[in-house]
Formats: sequence, C-alpha cells, structure tokens
Amino acid sequence: MALKIIDSCIACDACVIECPTGAIEASDPIYVIDPLLCTECIGYHKQPSCIPVCPVDSIILDPDCYEDKKELLLKFQNSKKGA
Ligand code: SF4
Ligand code: SF4
Repeated sequence: MALKIIDSCIACDACVIECPTGAIEASDPIYVIDPLLCTECIGYHKQPSCIPVCPVDSIILDPDCYEDKKELLLKFQNSKKGA
C-alpha cells in the first residue's frame, strides 16, 4: 500500500529527504506522494521512514492503493532495474 499525505500537512519539507525512492514532492498547498514510487520503504527500511519525521502526523497508509508485500518488493526491484 502506498502512503499518502493528508490536508493537515504544514509543508515543512522534513519528509522529503527521508524518502529513499524520491516519491515525495513539494506541491501546493500540501506535499504529495507518488504511489507509483512509494514502496512503504520495503527494500530500504523495516518501517516507512517518512512517518516518524512528520511533526503533524500527516502521512498515512492509502487504502485506495492496496498492495501486498510481494507487490511492493517487485516495485522496489523494478525501480532498481531502472536506476
Ligand atoms: Fe518514501 Fe518510504 Fe514514505 Fe513511501 S514510505 S513515501 S518510500 S519514505
Ligand atoms: Fe507535510 Fe509532514 Fe512532510 Fe512536513 S513531514 S512536508 S508536514 S507530510
């Protein structure tokens, strides 16, 4: 499942540098996560690295982007092929 950023985001920029896939981008008025790039940090970290740095708890799992661990791992492997 990809993650998403909700309206309470204060655009502080803290999450961007934590994202190993480059999935998080500044936008107006809130930041956004590209569901095609977000792997829930699978392949990089045990837990999503963006969630703990958000000071206003604005990063959540997106139930509209359900993927199981196998699919997330495949997404990670495909991103490495394109690297
Ligand atoms: Fe990036 Fe990981 Fe957060 Fe997904 S869970 S947006 S890959 S830091
Ligand atoms: Fe928005 Fe949280 Fe990211 Fe800051 S860390 S830009 S508040 S989602």
